[in-house]
Amino acid sequence: MTSLSDLPSIDALLRASAGLQAQYGHAQTVRALREAVETARQAALSGSPIPDAASLVGRAAAMLARDAQPTLRPVINATGVIVHTNLGRAPLSAEALDAIRAVGGGYSTLEYDLEPGQRGKRDRHIERILRDVTGAEAGMVVNNNASGVLLALTALAAGREAIISRGQLVEIGGAFRVPDVMQQSGARMVEIGTTNRTHLGDYAAAITADSAAIVRAHASNFKVIGFTESVPLAELAALAHERGLWLLDDIGSGTLIDTTPFGLAPEPRVQDSLAAGADLVMFSGDKLLGGPQAGIIVGRADLIDRLKRHPLARAIRADKLCLAGLSATLEHYRRGEALERVPVWRMIGAAPEAIRARAERWAAVVGGDVIPSESTVGGGSLPGETLPTWALSPRVDAPNAAAARLRAHDPPVIARVAQDRLLLDPRTVLPEQDADLLAALKEL
Ligand SMILES: *Cc1c(COP(=O)(O)O)cnc(C)c1O
Repeated sequence: MTSLSDLPSIDALLRASAGLQAQYGHAQTVRALREAVETARQAALSGSPIPDAASLVGRAAAMLARDAQPTLRPVINATGVIVHTNLGRAPLSAEALDAIRAVGGGYSTLEYDLEPGQRGKRDRHIERILRDVTGAEAGMVVNNNASGVLLALTALAAGREAIISRGQLVEIGGAFRVPDVMQQSGARMVEIGTTNRTHLGDYAAAITADSAAIVRAHASNFKVIGFTESVPLAELAALAHERGLWLLDDIGSGTLIDTTPFGLAPEPRVQDSLAAGADLVMFSGDKLLGGPQAGIIVGRADLIDRLKRHPLARAIRADKLCLAGLSATLEHYRRGEALERVPVWRMIGAAPEAIRARAERWAAVVGGDVIPSESTVGGGSLPGETLPTWALSPRVDAPNAAAARLRAHDPPVIARVAQDRLLLDPRTVLPEQDADLLAALKEL
């Protein structure tokens, strides 16, 4: 007959847990031991045998190890989705990581001017290179593109009208809805046109003495096909400027590189938007640019100046790690080496034959079939566009269960299940991750 009084005391268990206390601290160890004892007590009440002290300490140890594991962990992305928002969007280049480490591990010139030995401005680290790579007069960096759009609208259109086509009142995901952001800025949104067609005349007719800006938002993540019309940016710019309005262009992904040579649809380029006459162009740092999370705003110097002086700018400013990583990323573009150095562009540009050869190498080690498949760019850009690829399809009975086991591996491997097959696309697996990936596959 077992009795609840046979359960060891916490004090007795603590004497047997010196190692755990050294590793996790006294308070955490006590908490885990109490939880283990309480669970055992509940189980004993419904007839389970009372565990001995060693087994209770073992359970507490497992609990402590599980709780000490950070929830934000690196994973291997074998989905073939290049800018995967749930998996952290763009992986950074080696140079960007070096720059972040160099600045983050010590002190820096973040707001310090070395020559006079005085306070300096954090914007200057990034403005010159932004001008160089985009051709803009001026530029600035904030926390993310959502905050950049909010800042531009707040500083330039609060209390006045901002005109936008109904075809561009989009939701980007993660609760970024263009109408909500416009409302938050204090601008009065004037919707014009229809979901599928908006004409230049619709814009012209909506302009009043109270209008501050015409806003264009790139419909990043969906496509309207068929009977559609939108106004070319250059025509919008001409109209805006003739009537004394600003043209604000939220292009979303913000690529500096033409996507069409890769067989993809054109994604608006920052330089083209500026050349067409947009006064401010807003885009993300961590989508097709391939850098850290950031919102980049480029365009007219007088407007950038107004944005910088707005109180909201301080609330959404970029930190030193972001500025360091972003500068190093932009440097790849300035040197003309982005296609080779920026991981997102290396993945977009990877030749199908090279991907196939890598999948064959994996298959030679762990078995399975190498089959043609499709990668996507993702990150709310280029909807419906795919890149031809080759994927390893391990022979498993239950693909969803196998995918779950790959996720339970350390490091977790995120695969894709399509048409009842488990698929691993080498395109998004970083070269140095092959050994870990194969170890996970061997356990299947
Ligand atoms: C992605 C996107 C945003 C949001 O950018 P974040 O950097 O995620 O804040 C805003 N507008 C458009 C058009 C986008 O595609």
